[in-house]
Amino acid sequence: MTVNRKAIVIGGSLSGLFTGVLLRSVGWEVDIYERSPRTLSSRGGGVVLQPDVVEAFNIAGIPHDKLGVVATERYYLQDNGSIQRMPMRQTLTSWNTLYNHLKRHFPDEHYHQGKSLTNLQQQGEQVTAIFADGSKATGDLLIGADGSTSTVRQILLPTYDPMYAGYVGYRGLVDEKDLDPETAAIMTERFVFYQFRNSHILQYVIPGEDESLEPGKRRFNWVWYVNYDRDTELRRILTDKNGKLRDYSIPPGMMADDVEREMRDYAQSVLVEPFQKLITATKEPFVQSILDLGVPNMVFDRVALIGDAAFIPRPHTAASVSKAAANAIALMDALQENEHNVNNALKAWELDQLALGMHLWKRGQDLGETSQFIYGKEKWQPSKSV
Ligand SMILES: Cc1cc2nc3c(=O)[nH]c(=O)nc-3n(C[C@H](O)[C@H](O)[C@H](O)COP(=O)(O)OP(=O)(O)OC[C@H]3O[C@@H](n4cnc5c(N)ncnc54)[C@H](O)[C@@H]3O)c2cc1C
Repeated sequence: MTVNRKAIVIGGSLSGLFTGVLLRSVGWEVDIYERSPRTLSSRGGGVVLQPDVVEAFNIAGIPHDKLGVVATERYYLQDNGSIQRMPMRQTLTSWNTLYNHLKRHFPDEHYHQGKSLTNLQQQGEQVTAIFADGSKATGDLLIGADGSTSTVRQILLPTYDPMYAGYVGYRGLVDEKDLDPETAAIMTERFVFYQFRNSHILQYVIPGEDESLEPGKRRFNWVWYVNYDRDTELRRILTDKNGKLRDYSIPPGMMADDVEREMRDYAQSVLVEPFQKLITATKEPFVQSILDLGVPNMVFDRVALIGDAAFIPRPHTAASVSKAAANAIALMDALQENEHNVNNALKAWELDQLALGMHLWKRGQDLGETSQFIYGKEKWQPSKSV
């Protein structure tokens, strides 16, 4: 087991925690620095559970038998009321279930909240993180796990920013008890889709906010992709109810009233009845712009970019979280294999992780642009459609 090595991880979401628990499992000392002073655990929606996440939990010794809800088939709802069925077994979990499991496994005294990285310095084999409050932390390795708006990336690759893909995902969560029994029967324990011109909506059941898997205490999780022009429409969608323009998303409870009303009216005019009812039952919808991001390098001497800080695959790949886990597993392996040479470990790690990131990035774009998900080609015009 490696000893006397220290890693500084910037960002305390899933990439940061995967990295933290896995590097600790091979003897590294790890401190995670998270910008948000508040708990992250009550936020977030659904995540498709992929094998890399389970593998990371296995390696770290985190129990994973109660992580999600199993769906055994897909339903494609048709305009005429019929349903196309496709057998497919998947486990659906939630962001907060994964976050809580990882967080419980990482020592609180090494998870520092309210710490916003503003700069970094590399000196020989050491790297120092500098925070907004003036404090510093030095280690053998710094991991930028600080997501789509990564400060680490902005320092090292200042011209690489996420690009808006031409559409947003409206999202929502509905407690099982809040949906009428007839609609709930269609939606429960299945991946359900409705595809139509230039758009599609999907839903699956995920654990409750308290991680409950008990029927009646779980949540329906939906995502609806809608095209908006970047120059003329997006600004309005991303302006919250207080008039503040947000970077990429509006959290639950913060959508502007007129945008929320327009989304709800649009749902009634274009969706099939079960999805209309699901959206009507949603108390606090939220919205995220769909982004594309890829970088040419993930390693800069003793600094590495990981997770969404490096590559953002579109959500159709269902791979952001599993990529975060895969990045962290590979980093742990590389540091173990090159125990005495961190630079060599990082070089070896980077090659495969760049290939993985580029593959998922391209695959997400293809899925978004093909006839199945024909986004970005034609725009929905509110005045014509509602
Ligand atoms: C609260 C929350 C809820 C989410 N819910 C979902 C979901 O329901 N479904 C889904 O598929 N994905 C969700 N995601 C995104 C998902 O976590 C990522 O797509 C994926 O797991 C990769 O995560 P990441 O850790 O690389 O990036 P992110 O999850 O974006 O995390 C980056 C973290 O870095 C922190 N950070 C940013 N800048 C700094 C800085 N300068 N200094 C210190 N810290 C910084 C941020 O506060 C954030 O916690 C959510 C993310 C967050 C933060």
